[in-house]
Amino acid sequence: MSRMNDDTDPTAQADEQDPALRPRRFEDYTGQDRIKDNLRVYVRAALQRGEALDHVLLSGPPGLGKTSLAHILAEELGTTIRVAAGPTLERGGDLAGILTQLQPREVLFIDEIHRMNRAVEEILYPAMEDYQIDILMGSGPGAQSVRLPLQRFTLVGATTRSGMLTTPLRARFGIHCVLDFYTPEELLQIIRRSADCMALDMDPDAGVELASRARGTPRIANRLLRRIRDFAQVETGGRIDLALTRRALERLEVDARGLDAMDRKILVAIGKRFDGGPVGLSNLAAAIGEEQDTIEEVYEPFLIREGLLQRTPQGRVLTSTGWGIIGLSRGGKLF
Ligand code: ADP
Repeated sequence: MSRMNDDTDPTAQADEQDPALRPRRFEDYTGQDRIKDNLRVYVRAALQRGEALDHVLLSGPPGLGKTSLAHILAEELGTTIRVAAGPTLERGGDLAGILTQLQPREVLFIDEIHRMNRAVEEILYPAMEDYQIDILMGSGPGAQSVRLPLQRFTLVGATTRSGMLTTPLRARFGIHCVLDFYTPEELLQIIRRSADCMALDMDPDAGVELASRARGTPRIANRLLRRIRDFAQVETGGRIDLALTRRALERLEVDARGLDAMDRKILVAIGKRFDGGPVGLSNLAAAIGEEQDTIEEVYEPFLIREGLLQRTPQGRVLTSTGWGIIGLSRGGKLF
């Protein structure tokens, strides 16, 4: 199975280098207001009843704040969090080991939960529903199934592809939150907070510029901010003004709409090589030399949301705005 990694996922240059930027409480977590407001209620209700919070599924493109939200939930619930990633849970025993060690009301965060294999996933069903697991002791004819009770815990699952979750797994989450891209105003707040955390000297209009070019994604905003800081340190003695920000973004190949080099490569490939589409994902992936998963999970959501690309049953199609971006029209004529 193809996998996204730090080289292919432009959002993955983890802010974990700078853990101070990760919001710790709901009040530091900007945007996603409806989700936040509802979660606040559920957390409060669970606390009042002294129960574990119901299981939570967080879905949305990378870098929108799913991991942050999982940590915030644990913090607000006054409990600790254990972190696992779907693809690294290879055997049922890996997950069973984690589950049996959970403390009452603890949060178990499983990132990329859609990439868990079936055997592992099946252990989760009774764990989520009845707080117990059945494990097989021994092997061969003498093997015995043993039922182990678990503490009542909260599973927080994160996925960039909620459509890839099996129905039985999805059905066991009581709370499902779909995260959306951030508005430039929300991103500006995040950028201001990050700039404060990093003690940067940033002009207001420079922040506005960055906010409008960060693909609606906090992780990208923070990553670009760090690069802009580098340019500022070397070129303007640390001062981040509008001109420097524009220059830096140009050097980072981020255009006025926030599209990066790979976004443009995708649009140009569909336009020039496939005459605007429809083109199937595998052909597109081969044409640009990128993983299908990465195109689907990392790039397309924003291109679709910006109205540049459409997914149709026949394949990907460039919209008229998409044609405009690459400066061509169907048949290769100049726009
Ligand atoms: P995901 O798990 O969806 O890929 P993360 O939670 O890892 O995203 O978010 C990436 C980074 O973006 C975080 O470390 C944090 O710095 C920033 N971030 C994400 N969402 C928010 C938010 N709502 N408010 C402030 N910062 C955010």
